[in-house]
Amino acid sequence: MSDIRVRFAPSPTGYLHVGGLRTALYNYLFAKKNNGKFILRIEDTDRSRYVEGAVENLTAALKWAGLQYDEGPDAGGNYGPYLQSERLNIYHKYADELINKGHAYHCFCTQERLEKLREEQQRQKLPQAKYDKHCLSLTKSEIEEKLERGIPKVVRLNVIPNQRIVFNDIIRGTVEFESNNIDDQILIKSDGYPTYHLANVIDDHLMKISHVIRGEEWLSSTPKHVLLYDFFGWERPAFAHLPLLLNPDRTKLSKRQGDVAVEDYRDKGYLKEALINFVALLGWNAGDDREFYYMDELVEKFSLERVNKSGAVFDIVKLNSLNAEHLRKKRNEDILKLLKEEIHNSQFSVLNISDEFLLQIIATMKERVGFVKEFITSCKYFYEAPQDYEQKAIEKSWKDDTPEQLKKLRDKFAKLENPTKEDYEIALTKTAEKLKIGKGKLIHPLRLAVSGQSTGPGVYDILAILGKNEVIKRIDRALEKIIN
Ligand code: GLU
Repeated sequence: MSDIRVRFAPSPTGYLHVGGLRTALYNYLFAKKNNGKFILRIEDTDRSRYVEGAVENLTAALKWAGLQYDEGPDAGGNYGPYLQSERLNIYHKYADELINKGHAYHCFCTQERLEKLREEQQRQKLPQAKYDKHCLSLTKSEIEEKLERGIPKVVRLNVIPNQRIVFNDIIRGTVEFESNNIDDQILIKSDGYPTYHLANVIDDHLMKISHVIRGEEWLSSTPKHVLLYDFFGWERPAFAHLPLLLNPDRTKLSKRQGDVAVEDYRDKGYLKEALINFVALLGWNAGDDREFYYMDELVEKFSLERVNKSGAVFDIVKLNSLNAEHLRKKRNEDILKLLKEEIHNSQFSVLNISDEFLLQIIATMKERVGFVKEFITSCKYFYEAPQDYEQKAIEKSWKDDTPEQLKKLRDKFAKLENPTKEDYEIALTKTAEKLKIGKGKLIHPLRLAVSGQSTGPGVYDILAILGKNEVIKRIDRALEKIIN
């Protein structure tokens, strides 16, 4: 097989859609798996949709996700420029070539005429509005005269009627369209910019793209592209159209039902490894039940042949559980880095926290959290003494004799020297024996006193992390503040 070159070709809308991330990822995996090149091309020919900073957002999101491209606007490469708005002269040259060969033509029809045509076709209940090739019958001199007068114009594709357009799709097999259902697509707009179809085909050809891997929503554009390849006399790339992304109710994935921007997931604290893992499974599996993957394993396992045709449901519950699993499998030192970033970026001002202290929290809480930020939010008591105590827990475990018993425990703790978690446990067991009460009578109020909560990691772990002085202080404070 000749060199594998694939591209992700987003229009810069302002953010990277998760569907776009999936397309980019599949292209990336396919390139890496086959020792190919992954190219980023920005399709910014729709000037009405221009968004300031959109390209920067896109490249930042791709890089955050680990999808480094080999060629692209800020990466260079031998086939640039990689921004379509910088390639206008190329599109014009090729449009002229098509016109000269009779595969495209100038159209000078006014908006009013096109509007009337559409209304007429609607009246006739035609399945779709189509241009009637009116300008195809203009003579050469008529065309020249209009061009000279500077009459607004577009360039249209000259679709030949009554033909079958057939192409192969790696995921869907043979796909067929009737040319009668295809409009004489505008190739160059009146503002001189090419449409998606023309620019896309020319660039894929000039950039030597071997495989076009993109979302299913572009499948209906492909017959137009196929016509263009054939008209130019160019070899077609291989096509693979990825399944739609669906909401859990099987409607098309939409903003209304949740976040669709990769940036939103990043800002909510999802790990890039988890998002990549999750997105990889939106339409692909390795042929078994396995769901947990790192990027290098995906590269190894990925194949277009195992991409499904049917829509893939975006299940946030699955994403959350993958996030927790990826977090759990990280080394504590790596989590520490993320946690320090989180602390740095949050409103939460915790001064003088040592790495050692944070590492203890990480080790204790790792199995209980789903997000890095929960190393703070789900266990604030490690960082500051509780301000209030869970009312329900007070009612349940803080009895009349609790203060007296807890005081005994406090005194026992006070005598310990540099206690470990085992030392605390032994001290508590002995105190309970002496008081002839069950250990629970001490454990529950103790947990409440030091954390303000009734749930959490093992109470002796909490004590060991807080340290003796803090533990004693908190017990005293609870004895003062909790009145049943
Ligand atoms: N510019 C198109 C988009 O926004 C590219 C589609 C394709 O990959 O051909 O997705």
